[in-house]
Amino acid sequence: MALCERCSGKGEIVVEEKKCVACKGTGKAKSINLGELSEEQLSRALDGSCPVCDGTGCVKITEKCPECGGSGEITGHVDTPSVNLLSDLCDLQDLVVGDLYEGTVNGVTDFGAFIDLNKKMRGLIRSNNLGSDVAVGDTVHVHVQNVKPNGNIELIPKKLKEYQIVEIEKHFPEYRSSDLLKHVGKTVSIAGKVIHVKQTAGPTIFTVLDESGTVVCAAFERAGERAYPEVDSGTIVRVVGEASMRNQDIQIEVAEMKGLFGSDATGICDRIERALDILAEPQDVDFLIESEVTTSLKEGMRAVAKRIRRAIFSSQPIVLRHHADADGMTAGIAIERAILPLIRDVSGTDAEYYFYRRSPSKAPFYEMMDIVRDITFALGDQARHGQDLPLIILVDNGSTEEDVPAFRYTDVYGIDVLVVDHHHPDEVVDQYLCEHVNPYHVGGDFGVTAGMVCFEVARMINPDVTDEIKHLPAVSAIGDRSEAAEASRYIDLVSDRYSAAELSDIALALDYAAFWLKFQDGRGLLNDILNFGKLDRHQKLVKLLCDQAKSMIEDQLRVCMPNVRTQRLPNGVSLNVIDLEHFAHKFTFPPPGKTSGEIHDQICQKTDDPVVTLGYGPDFAVIRSRGAGMNIPQMVRELHDELVGAGVSGGGHLVVGSIKFVEGMRTEVLQRLAEMIGKLETDE
Ligand code: MN
Repeated sequence: MALCERCSGKGEIVVEEKKCVACKGTGKAKSINLGELSEEQLSRALDGSCPVCDGTGCVKITEKCPECGGSGEITGHVDTPSVNLLSDLCDLQDLVVGDLYEGTVNGVTDFGAFIDLNKKMRGLIRSNNLGSDVAVGDTVHVHVQNVKPNGNIELIPKKLKEYQIVEIEKHFPEYRSSDLLKHVGKTVSIAGKVIHVKQTAGPTIFTVLDESGTVVCAAFERAGERAYPEVDSGTIVRVVGEASMRNQDIQIEVAEMKGLFGSDATGICDRIERALDILAEPQDVDFLIESEVTTSLKEGMRAVAKRIRRAIFSSQPIVLRHHADADGMTAGIAIERAILPLIRDVSGTDAEYYFYRRSPSKAPFYEMMDIVRDITFALGDQARHGQDLPLIILVDNGSTEEDVPAFRYTDVYGIDVLVVDHHHPDEVVDQYLCEHVNPYHVGGDFGVTAGMVCFEVARMINPDVTDEIKHLPAVSAIGDRSEAAEASRYIDLVSDRYSAAELSDIALALDYAAFWLKFQDGRGLLNDILNFGKLDRHQKLVKLLCDQAKSMIEDQLRVCMPNVRTQRLPNGVSLNVIDLEHFAHKFTFPPPGKTSGEIHDQICQKTDDPVVTLGYGPDFAVIRSRGAGMNIPQMVRELHDELVGAGVSGGGHLVVGSIKFVEGMRTEVLQRLAEMIGKLETDE
């Protein structure tokens, strides 16, 4: 681009020179109204020269250079005038007399038309200058003729065929959201990505994420009216407004919010991405219990911790699902205790209600009912608040073929899924998962519980919680009857605070509470059971739950034991069968799985032989075993293939699990199952 020759690059030309009216051509300051002068003029007035003509005695009347349109440069479109479009933050200081502006007719009266130049500034076209009819809402182009000392703006309409719009921005210092506390009360600017939009009865609340965290921006149009409807979740914006405190959180009262596009937006995105990657990096912690299995899992656990931290720092919603037993609950709650303080820190005090949900799963896999519910919630939140779809974390759950139908839905929606489980894994699930941590992958087994692995993952996410959740892996070990070496080490770790009996009571209390909680997360109740609140309430509550659970178990066993049929199989296995449909209390605690487990434990105490216990109902069987070399998922597959028309499905752990089938084929299924058990190579 070249300098405009006509104006020598100044952008304006002198059309007339007049004697200065203020000093009558003398160049000396006369009595003048100091209040009307700018600071610069004032300083000249004080040293005696006329502030209007700068002491020269004459004033030059200039016009914008018609050649270059005021830019001072030749661009090729020399004849296209520039029309300024003022941002809402611009004020009188940004208005240049003689320039062209775009405005909107706000009202028409006898003496002229009022024109809004932005939300703050309104000028007047007098009737005698108003060439043609204008109506409220019309876009007009005007020339600023004069700005009176009282702030009145006098406008002359201009009919333009060709013109170019120049957006006039007002610049405010740009800060990172984490620095705003130091600038409360000031007008500031931030740039970031909108991650959540909430319409209240008053303002619209936008949550904006930048490289240092999030900040809430409140924009008010009219009560209950959606402000900036063009700005949605995912939009990269620049926000200008006053930094203020609301409750304990910093907030920006939005004066202007603008969507950014192109390189402006990608630059900000890249900045956020890089910052997120650093923030998400898990803490470097040593495991409280190092073992061959946990050490081999460490890399995968780090990846899980990093993905979870990333979700927290980008305010992506998190759905945490866990099996509804003592192991699943301790695993889930270890993660919950680690992430909640971070979610509150990053996204504000009430953020956990938008960005986090925990749900128990009755079955040890992701049932259709659960996934359909999770997707429905997620899509609802997306529609209402423009939230991202959630990160789904499955603990003590998610490793088996039975999870695949659900994963096909997460796949359709592109939802990231993390699994930390110790059920015997099926390879087929891995194609649907971002990360899958499972002791079986590294030569371990179910003895390393989900509660143990999640405890260490929780510490990687937020090491500050180590002390308060230290007893959770011990509870999980007892809940899942782990005989792994890690189990006794985790139990020893808290032996100064909890006896083995207390840990086992907590595990039972959890199982009992889980039964009555059904699909609720039961956070407060579980926090008391796990001793995160008052000690005496914890002790009373655990005692109450255990008393009730134990008496119901005793009652159930009194009914069941006389009805157990025991048979010694050719391979030395003691097979114990109970018809739970007819010889057990139904629809109460303990449910069939736990009932079979309790029966199994009683029988095991009386013998050293390999034992298999089979509790069956009309269309299901629950299996517990010891020393019999069982592989339940494998047996389920064989039964499924062999018994056409029996509809066999199920699974679980290798030695503990459940099978479903159609009622009419029960005899065939159970008979074949007993045959298979009789042929097992026992551990002895
Ligand atoms: Mn478990």
